[in-house]
This record gives sequence, structure tokens and C-alpha cells, in this order.
Amino acid sequence: MTQPARKVRVRFAPSPTGPLHIGGVRTALYNYLFARQHGGELVFRIEDTDSTRFVPGAEEYIIEAFRWLGIEFDEGVSFGGAHGPYRQSERRDIYRRYMRQLLDEGKAYIAFDTPEELEVRRKETENFQYDAHTRNSMRNSLTLPAEEAERLVAEGAQYVVRFKIEPDQDITVHDLIRGDVHVNSSVLDDKVLYKSADDLPTYHLANIVDDHLMQISHVIRGEEWLPSAPLHVLLYRAFGWEDSMPAFAHLPLLLKPDGKGKLSKRDGDRLGFPVFPLEWKDPATGAVSSGYRESGYLPAAVINFLALLGWNPGDDEEILSLEALVDKFDITKCSRSGAKFDYVKGQWFNREYLQRTPDAALAPAFDAVLRENGIEAPMERVEAVVGMMKMKKISFIRELWPLCDFFFISPQTYTTEDKFVRKNWKAETAGEMRTLAALLKDVSPFDVENLRQAVDTWTETSGVKPWNAWRVCLVGTGKGPDMYELAAFLGKAETLSRMERAIQALSEGQA
Ligand code: GLU
Repeated sequence: MTQPARKVRVRFAPSPTGPLHIGGVRTALYNYLFARQHGGELVFRIEDTDSTRFVPGAEEYIIEAFRWLGIEFDEGVSFGGAHGPYRQSERRDIYRRYMRQLLDEGKAYIAFDTPEELEVRRKETENFQYDAHTRNSMRNSLTLPAEEAERLVAEGAQYVVRFKIEPDQDITVHDLIRGDVHVNSSVLDDKVLYKSADDLPTYHLANIVDDHLMQISHVIRGEEWLPSAPLHVLLYRAFGWEDSMPAFAHLPLLLKPDGKGKLSKRDGDRLGFPVFPLEWKDPATGAVSSGYRESGYLPAAVINFLALLGWNPGDDEEILSLEALVDKFDITKCSRSGAKFDYVKGQWFNREYLQRTPDAALAPAFDAVLRENGIEAPMERVEAVVGMMKMKKISFIRELWPLCDFFFISPQTYTTEDKFVRKNWKAETAGEMRTLAALLKDVSPFDVENLRQAVDTWTETSGVKPWNAWRVCLVGTGKGPDMYELAAFLGKAETLSRMERAIQALSEGQA
């Protein structure tokens, strides 16, 4: 990894237009890893200059998502810092000043064309582009007499400020992932930088001004922003900020798990996986979209899964903690082609992380599942069950319930319709279970060691193999943990009562 020469300052700059897409989470994560590994800083900026797309609650949602994931910002909205305010809607004066500068220097101009007028031109000319070839035939401060343009502005006519792009200039975007990307300025149109209607800059102007003022050294963002980068380079030039222009890194797209194309919310709905970090309730429609948190993912598993979508450490190591990722991540080794969103792999990561998480840390989540099923149990018992059962190939804590219900509810019915019961309950079984019950009555304390010793001694002398039938008594079928652990958990009274009921139902009841 080569060490960047300047102080590393990166930013994650979402627009609050809804819940944060999982691709945005990966972008933030890569920024975080890059900042941490270079002893740099990560800024959280809210790009809310498009007031028509503002969604209430989105900003809070994004902050909460990163809190859950453990991605920490050094500066920004809700975190403070020396370069604030960090919400673009609170920086209007700053943008106005820079917009003025471009106008005064003749690098931008005011355009009065109405949407209807522009529509007419688009209909007349195929692939119409507002640029060096066409701007002279439009209604703007370059074509109108100066007094008229001034009068229009003074009268409150609506206008936009456009960037005056000089044709036929070579532009090079230095991208840490893609190498040098060359573009000729003639393909670009005179982008709108500012709109008088809401007195706000567009994304392009605000983004560049802020990256400059916030001393951003590296712009790490999704591939969908690559087409904007040449324009951004020209803006840096226009302001004379080339020397402090950040390096770019455009991350590969996240692709559908199956087939081609960009991962979308519909893929998640269709295949049954979340595309948002947290559950989101659309304030306008009330529609609820699932989230990784509510679906039972551990934050560390989500981080590990996302980190490897578009980058890998170059060896077979897959389980990487956040610290290990900070150590190994290399932005220059990110892939250029899209990364398939293998959500099944995400579930695998969760299984791996469940098994590595202490029982006590998982117990509250299982306690919540138990409560949903009407069970209230002391936390140490919940924890004990998690400990006995979490290795059973589950990917989510909620999958424990059908595997574990018998710990808390004695079997409702005993039936030979169950294959395991039929196979293990023979004519002599009731007698054997009676002998076993009599033996267990004297075990004290009723713990795993004593149980093992008592039962082993008996089976050695008698040759009886009681475990499967005993399991039938305590569970009602062929599932569950080690029998001694189960009996010890249930305690003597419950163990004996389940055995009695099973004997009744399966042998004596039938007679
Ligand atoms: N506001 C843009 C977004 O929503 C930021 C793009 C950038 O990072 O420059 O992703």
C-alpha cells in the first residue's frame, strides 16, 4: 500500500432521499477503512440541495444505521467539527459566493430559458445539448444585452447559472481503481450549477465547493458518479484548486444475485433478503422494507460480508474483523467490474459470526423470540439454551425456536406417527424407562456429571441403550442436545414428569 502524501480526509455524503441502500453502506465502509488505515478523518456530510427529493427521517435513519454497524465518523452532521455546517442546505451563503466568483470571471453564465423553451429545442434537435455550439442561440446572459439580463434578474425572473464549458479540452480523471480516465470536454453540456427558484446550488457545485473547503483528499464513491467526475475536474480547474484536487476512487456496482444488472430493492423482495441496513417505513406510503438489523444479522457479519463485495485480501481468509479489515484493505485492489450480491454468502457470514459470539451476547435476542412465543424465562436459562443449540447450523437466532421449543414447553403429544418415536419405542421400552426413572429419582444434585455417571453405570451392567427412548420422553421426537445436558436443564421434577407422561401415552395408554 502506498502512503498518500497529504493528510487523509474522506467523506461519506448521502442525500437524504430515503433509507440508505446497502451499496451506500459499503461506500461508507470503504471510506471508513481507508481513513482508519491512514490515520485520517472521515466526514459525514448531508447533500440535501435537491429539496424536491428530501424525505423526512432519512438523515436520522442513516445516522442510526452507522451507529448500529459501528462505523464511526470524526466530523459531520450530528458529530460536529471545524468545517461545519455539514448539511448543505445550511451552506447557501457559501455556495452563492462561489457561484458569484464563476460568474464574475466569465466561467459561468445566467440562463433564462424556460422548461418549455428547452423542450421545444429538444424536440427540434436530436440529442440537443446546451453547450458551446448551442448556447449562442439560447436566452442567456451571453446572448441578451447586459441591461436586459440585469433587469430580468432584478424583476425576479427565474434563472439558472450554467457552467461555461470550453470545448475540446482534454480532461483526465485520476482514479485509484480505474487508472486514468480520459474525456474530451466537448461531450459535456453546460451543467446547471445553481437554481434561482430555490436559491440552492445543484449537486455538482455544492459537492466540489464542500470537498475543497472540507479539505477532502480522496473521493471514494459509487461507480454511478464516475460520469460526473470530468465535470468535477473542470470545476476544480475553474476555481484554481487543481493542486488540492482529491484523488478519485469509483467503486464497482453491486449486481443482482442472479442475472445481470444493478442490485435493486425488487431483487430483495423477490428473493427474500434486505437491501437496507435497518427496517424502513416509508413516511408517505407506510410501506415497510426489511432491514439487516431486524432480520437478525449481527453488525460484524454485515460489515465482513460487505467489505468483500468488490475487494478481497488476495488470500483465502474470509472471516475478517473490522480491525483486520482496516489493516488489510487496499483501495487500489478493488475490482473494476461489478460485484454480485451473493446474499446467501451473507447468511453464511451471519452463521459464522453467531458461532463466534458469546452466548450471553446472543441471549437477549433469543429472549425476544421466546417472548413472542409466550415464554418468559430467566436470562441464565435462555443463555444456557443458546449455548447448547447455537452450533446447530442456524444462520439466525430466530431459527432456534423450532429447534428449542421443548426446553420450555413439555411435549404436547406423544405419537408413533413420528418416525423417530416409532423406531425407538419398543415393547420393552416402557419397562426400561420406568427403571431409568427410578434411578434418576436418586440422582442428586441433578447435574450433567452425576446424571452421566448414574446412567452409564446402569447401561454398562444392563446392556440397555436408553438414550433414544429417553429423548422421546423429554422431547417427543428426535431432536435436541446431549441428553444429560437436557435433563440437567429441565431438572428432576420436569424430567420425571415428562417420562411418566410418555410412558402413559405410548404404552400404558394404548393398552
Ligand atoms: N450525494 C451523493 C450521493 O447521494 C454523493 C456522491 C459523492 O460522493 O460525490 O451519493
